[in-house]
Amino acid sequence: MTSYDDGNIFAKILRGEIPSHRVYEDADTVAFMDVMPQGEGHLLVVPKAPSRNLLDASPETLAKLLPVVQKLARAAKTAFAADGVTILQFNEQAAGQTVFHLHVHIVPRFEGVPLRPHSGTMEKPEILAANAEKVRAALSAG
Ligand code: AMP
Repeated sequence: MTSYDDGNIFAKILRGEIPSHRVYEDADTVAFMDVMPQGEGHLLVVPKAPSRNLLDASPETLAKLLPVVQKLARAAKTAFAADGVTILQFNEQAAGQTVFHLHVHIVPRFEGVPLRPHSGTMEKPEILAANAEKVRAALSAG
């Protein structure tokens, strides 16, 4: 299996070398807005521990990740008054993965609104910032 490369863009975000619209952080996990959202409020949940994807992640990393995905999926559904939430996770290039640090996509969904293309169009920073604030507010409201 190809090994983890810490030059990937999410490793840089985790190290604070490039900015992100961060909505959540704990000892093991960070979540921020996807810059090319497939729907309004598209979030990424990223474990701090290095792995390329689900295939080489440790069971401990995976066990810590899913409760945070649930917490953020609930917050995103509330924040955007969504009808549902799609969870996506890609493993290796053939499966559509483009950033090789494990992450889970959370996409709020609305009746009749299709998903936009994966890694499609860059969202305006002010919209990402406003959406991040909505998620933070929903998280703090519990
Ligand atoms: P994947 O194909 O699962 O590896 O998805 C990578 C995701 O990262 C895509 O949805 C991209 O839109 C998103 N993305 C790429 N660069 C950044 C970035 N600097 N900040 C936030 N999201 C990003």
